[in-house]
Amino acid sequence: MSTATQLPRTQVVIAGAGPVGLTLAIALGQAGIAVRLFDKRPGFGKLPKMERCNARTMENFRRLGIEDEIRAAGLDNDMPMDVFICLEDIARPPLVKHEYESVNELKAEYRATRDASTAAVPYQLISQYTLEPLLRDVALRSPSVSIEFDREVTDFRQTADEAIVNVRDAAGAEYEIAADFLVGCDGGGSTVRDRLGFVLEGESMLEMRQALFYSEDLLDRIPIGKGRHYHIADDHNSFLIVQDDKKHFSLHATVESDDDMIPLFEKIVGFPIDYTTLYIGRWTQRLMLADRYRDGRVLIAGDAAHLVIPTGGLGMNTGAGDAIDLGWKLAAVLHGWGGDTLLDAYEAERRPVGRRNIAASRRAAQGRRTWRNMWRPEIAEDSPEGQAARAALIEVAEREQRWSNDLYGIELGYRYQGSPVLAYGTPPASVDQPLDFEYSPQTEVGFRLPNVWLRDGRALQDELGWEYALIDTTAEGVNAAAVAEAFASRGAPFRVVRPDSDDASAVYGEGLLLVRPDLHIAWRGAALPDDAAGLAALLTGNAGPGAGGSLGAHQLSQTAVSTS
Ligand SMILES: Cc1cc2nc3c(=O)[nH]c(=O)nc-3n(C[C@H](O)[C@H](O)[C@H](O)COP(=O)(O)OP(=O)(O)OC[C@H]3O[C@@H](n4cnc5c(N)ncnc54)[C@H](O)[C@@H]3O)c2cc1C
Repeated sequence: MSTATQLPRTQVVIAGAGPVGLTLAIALGQAGIAVRLFDKRPGFGKLPKMERCNARTMENFRRLGIEDEIRAAGLDNDMPMDVFICLEDIARPPLVKHEYESVNELKAEYRATRDASTAAVPYQLISQYTLEPLLRDVALRSPSVSIEFDREVTDFRQTADEAIVNVRDAAGAEYEIAADFLVGCDGGGSTVRDRLGFVLEGESMLEMRQALFYSEDLLDRIPIGKGRHYHIADDHNSFLIVQDDKKHFSLHATVESDDDMIPLFEKIVGFPIDYTTLYIGRWTQRLMLADRYRDGRVLIAGDAAHLVIPTGGLGMNTGAGDAIDLGWKLAAVLHGWGGDTLLDAYEAERRPVGRRNIAASRRAAQGRRTWRNMWRPEIAEDSPEGQAARAALIEVAEREQRWSNDLYGIELGYRYQGSPVLAYGTPPASVDQPLDFEYSPQTEVGFRLPNVWLRDGRALQDELGWEYALIDTTAEGVNAAAVAEAFASRGAPFRVVRPDSDDASAVYGEGLLLVRPDLHIAWRGAALPDDAAGLAALLTGNAGPGAGGSLGAHQLSQTAVSTS
């Protein structure tokens, strides 16, 4: 018989208080779901990991009401985001400089964009060690959320009705807690994934060392100017990253020992500075994807499900996307209006995105490797050979470095192509989407709703809550009472929106778009659907697997608007 102390039942147990588990806790807490989150760490640390929330993640954080807090805690919004490739040190003129606007410049640019080719809000640099405690504080504002450190999820079992989770505290005491669902957001070494028997497939690559340095005035004194990233063209893959407060700097490099990191840092800086070394450690680049994301009442998200090389910053951002997708679906099921197929849709939608983002990260990393392979021992020499080596590297780097920094199509342009809860007009031929780094707004079913601006200056995204919304851009407007009734009879939140915007018809076409709580397009048509009840059942996951093909597809494709 178990000697474990029984903890009171909850609705969702989350294993892991990294950025993904915390984002999920926020989404569930704001939906009124009871969450108990356990992390085996004693508390948050100061490891230099992610430093960029991409534009899609910031849109989602805005919808959770925390964009301003994140920007206030993150990097100064007037700071240029330039990326440098330097020869030997950051004291001398760079070989390559790619200029990127500050967040404030991007905000103005986005606001002036009328064709929906940008996100509603730009990305934000914020170090993971700043973001995590901030997300914790936000999550705890929901009274239904608790977060406990020094508590490790060691195992679980599940029945048709519940998951029973085993937890051990730092003193070795054992606990058991029953929940409706368990979500493993427990990182690359996920216990939950392992206990599920899911296999992480892929490859481990370069082993890197990273160090974190503190310097009060380094950034102000860099002769070549302020930027975000300083790559060094050397044979150590050296890469200096400015962290959010502009006083911490992480250095990544392939060197023999931890001790090598300090002289390398001094060499890269290239002039005397006062600094403190805060951390030196190792990490391994991985490109891996779990073969499954869900088994019954247990699911995985974030690094537990996919691991990317940080080139391109798709790690935490992909995981935050998982959390947003899973959050509203779990809440829907627990509130009683979402069917089990919604949870099948989590894997069907997010796993192909994980696969695509791994491929994008591989492409970005290859690009960086391509220009790094142009390094020659004579590259710094003042000789014709040195000059030729520099010219050759510059030519390749101008092109190949862009893969790491220009991924808008990957970040915003992803489409859910094989989902059982979307009413495709013409179902996509494959669940996998082409690897397009450029973003162009799309209104086919499965895409993120492109953002348009309202006449009062707000983004349409700001007008839409966590509900199903029928966006009506028909000339006369429709009476959608039957669709509203179909959703209401299931208890699912629904509303009709006629955007007060000069751009909506041009971007969306004249017709109807039905978007889900996460702002992905779930159905589109030129006129109202004939079978509103069937559509509501499909979209809320109550129509059963395979229903989308028979219901949504043919009937709706005949009325689909064309926006091309
Ligand atoms: C050098 C570097 C740079 C990066 N840069 C970026 C970037 O710019 N942008 C980006 O998007 N991503 C970046 N990443 C990736 C990003 O850091 C990860 O993708 C992100 O941390 C994943 O978040 P997570 O919450 O899924 O997992 P984690 O952050 O790994 O958190 C998992 C949590 O689970 C806890 N845990 C583990 N096992 C258990 C258990 N059994 N019980 C309870 N708790 C448990 C751990 O203590 C931890 O707190 C970078 C990574 C590295 C290494």
